[in-house]
Amino acid sequence: MSFCVKCGRDCEESLNGLCIDCWLDGRSLTWLPHHVDLKVCTNCGEFMFGERWRAMDVEDAVKQAARDALDHLGDVKLMDDAEFSLDSKDPYVYTVTITSKCDVLGYMTEHEASTIVRIKNNVCRRCSRQLGSYYEAILQLRTGAKGGLTPEQREEALAFTEDYVYRAAQTNKSLFITKMEMVTGGVDVYLSSISLGKNLSKEFSEVYCAETKESPKLVGQTTDGQDMYRLTYLVRLPEYHVGDVVIHEGRYCKLIRVSGNGGRVLDLMNFREKSVRKSDMTDIKLYEKAADLKEATVVSSSGSEIQVLHPDNYSTIDLRVPEGYETGDSVQTVVIDDVLYLVP
Ligand SMILES: [Zn+2]
Ligand SMILES: [Zn+2]
Repeated sequence: MSFCVKCGRDCEESLNGLCIDCWLDGRSLTWLPHHVDLKVCTNCGEFMFGERWRAMDVEDAVKQAARDALDHLGDVKLMDDAEFSLDSKDPYVYTVTITSKCDVLGYMTEHEASTIVRIKNNVCRRCSRQLGSYYEAILQLRTGAKGGLTPEQREEALAFTEDYVYRAAQTNKSLFITKMEMVTGGVDVYLSSISLGKNLSKEFSEVYCAETKESPKLVGQTTDGQDMYRLTYLVRLPEYHVGDVVIHEGRYCKLIRVSGNGGRVLDLMNFREKSVRKSDMTDIKLYEKAADLKEATVVSSSGSEIQVLHPDNYSTIDLRVPEGYETGDSVQTVVIDDVLYLVP
């Protein structure tokens, strides 16, 4: 048993010779600065903590900013379950009171401290790049065909690009499309990162069997003296699509697959499939788009032959077919040198 040197009371334990009440008397266990500034990006709404921008609810951000500024006496251990009370008369100014649970050398008590959190408008680095038209790569979407990309091809290629960037941005928010520009023969897509341009041109090569070419351009130096490049990725989309009738090595075929390794065609004269090496894909010529194939109705069938009504003149035509078609079926056909062929 000891006693308090200030009030003289007997006490179980003493803190530097004082009873707990005398020790706590007039002492601030925790304190906050008069105000705390919290930066918000006016473009994306993220808040800055330390060097990082984070997406969070405004009240959570305000609490976090106050908590980060909270300080306490060395003899005090703060428990995790502090209570926050927020009061705001202006969407940019919050009065925050933190009631902290304090462990003072084994004795539990509470202490309150208040501050004003002021929300300050700012623009994060990512948004400032985006707003400032920052770009590192240009994807030039073109085609080998005369007249350039058709509006449908352009829409398809842009949708493919936007979808790819959207998915990439889910895990890396510094990836974005700066702008898109219609140009003669195609469209230019400005991208925030070189790797994004590189990956996208690879995707076009794999999914569409597009020819791609990259060319770097020195645009200056970074602040630490390193060369800074911009990359242009030329993507030449083929005219053909899966499902089109194409000419390959002089034969009329249906294009049935396109991939990064080449393609696969079905010969319309003998219904044999053949693979096409990637290097030979550029020799493929479009004959008829899938959308322009003509439908014909089967009027009778006998094994490897069917009779259809010619889609142009409704005469009855015999067609060789690979396998079972039934009367009443609708089949796709194409006219080659005035002869009707089945496109299975
Ligand atoms: Zn005392
Ligand atoms: Zn932002």
